[in-house]
Amino acid sequence: MAETFGNFVAGEWVKASSGKTFDSINPANTDDLVACYQASSVEDAKNTIDVAQKAQAAWAAIPAPNRGVILMRAAELLEKRSESVAADMTREEGKTLPEAKGEVGRAVNILRYFGGEGARLGGETVPSEREGVFAYTFRKPLGVVSLLTPWNFPIAIPAWKMAPALIAGNTVVIKPASAAPLCTVRLIEVLHESGLPKGVLNMVTGSGSVIGDELISNPAVKAVSFTGSCEVGNGIQNKTVPRGTKTQLEMGGKNPTIVLRDADLNMAADIVVNGAFFSTGQKCTATSRALIEEPIFEEFVRLLVEKTRRLRVGNGIEKGVDIGPCVDEGQMKTVLRYVDIGKKEGAKLLCGGHRLSGPGYDKGYFVEPTIFSDVTPDMTIAQEEIFGPVLAVIPVKDIDAAIAVANNVKFGLSASLLTNQLNKVFRYINRIEAGLIIVNLPSAGVEYQLPFGGTKASSTGFREQGSVAIDFYSELRTVYLKHQT
Ligand code: NAP
Ligand code: MG
Repeated sequence: MAETFGNFVAGEWVKASSGKTFDSINPANTDDLVACYQASSVEDAKNTIDVAQKAQAAWAAIPAPNRGVILMRAAELLEKRSESVAADMTREEGKTLPEAKGEVGRAVNILRYFGGEGARLGGETVPSEREGVFAYTFRKPLGVVSLLTPWNFPIAIPAWKMAPALIAGNTVVIKPASAAPLCTVRLIEVLHESGLPKGVLNMVTGSGSVIGDELISNPAVKAVSFTGSCEVGNGIQNKTVPRGTKTQLEMGGKNPTIVLRDADLNMAADIVVNGAFFSTGQKCTATSRALIEEPIFEEFVRLLVEKTRRLRVGNGIEKGVDIGPCVDEGQMKTVLRYVDIGKKEGAKLLCGGHRLSGPGYDKGYFVEPTIFSDVTPDMTIAQEEIFGPVLAVIPVKDIDAAIAVANNVKFGLSASLLTNQLNKVFRYINRIEAGLIIVNLPSAGVEYQLPFGGTKASSTGFREQGSVAIDFYSELRTVYLKHQT
């Protein structure tokens, strides 16, 4: 029997008023029911926001370094449980066990890092131009914040939103993606066992299209942090911005990796394979376009296809599997639809392109890692985010042409360049339209202690992670204090 989890409200696991639940299933084996969660109503969301609002003043009154101790304790607990939490993640989201372990480790680091930030939540002192005036700034929490998270990093993203929100003194209502809520449950468990007061961190589960509006529009909600698709994110912004609700959106990408002729081709092919296919291409920072300088195009593509064919697709819980399934049937169908579009628009399928069948595959949402060549920069598969294991390779004349093609999309999340030519590296760093600018590493693979976020349609500006994450979750106050009267 799969376990049924409640909403987490005022420190208790409670049922939704609807009395209804929904299921999450293992995308590698649809016979495996992972867990059931509450199908919450608008009323449940509203009550949860009320609880968070009532708890906020007392939480903000706890000195920030002491709030930080709770986060650090939670980090210890999560680290102890990392094996089982990673297994939960693989079972519910599908990524391989080593990737899931890496992600749990990331959440541990995030909790520790923001725990430490509790003792560093300073403002600045600035000399006043007036005599006897002491001028300084300090940070105030916002109040209740709503966190809306996607399924693809089911513990890291909730952690990198919750931790700075909490350390800054806000109370939180989180709604995890319906495809993968279990890791949010695990985070809540460790934070509560570590002494987080009741009502400070709350979770409601259920369909975003049912409870999302209440979570972003309730007047007690002072800020909304969302990671997910552009469609949903832009819809949220259209409602929150006119109301003056602080809004942070992290959305899609169409991330390029540029390979110049001097690159070590073997290493470059490994980097592109890693960026394009690991986590089944379901990373917002995944490489979905490889822009290859013409003289090395054929040799590079040959290596790329050879390495891609060697990837083992399967149930991510098994040893030796490189690529797990798509997260659900809808995502798999989206991937296959884009494969069809690519073929119809005249791109050439070099490998993959099919759903896998046979023993070990029939009950899961497995798609072969797929590479298209003869892709022109204006084709749909070179423009739209697919969010699956599909890579478009595009020949380019030189670095300038590569940067032009790279920038010719609506997104600007991450980009990578593989070369040792320093002058070209700096030209790229100065001109590439991406929030995360990477050289000689995969386009995916960022660290928690630096700012994360994109430009153009990928993000709205306020960065997540790193010390600047606090900027979104707090507001500065400026004090002018005359002490010589
Ligand atoms: P999604 O469909 O936009 O959903 C994201 C979250 O929003 C889920 O919790 C979802 O709930 C909720 N939601 C849905 N409709 C809503 C509404 N009307 N109001 C409020 N909330 C609503 O995205 P996804 O399919 O989970 O994730 C994939 C997308 O996330 C990709 O586009 C990817 O690029 C993006 N992503 C971006 C980043 C980044 O940092 N830039 C990182 C990871 C992923 P339900 O699950 O109940 O629908
Ligand atoms: Mg979705």
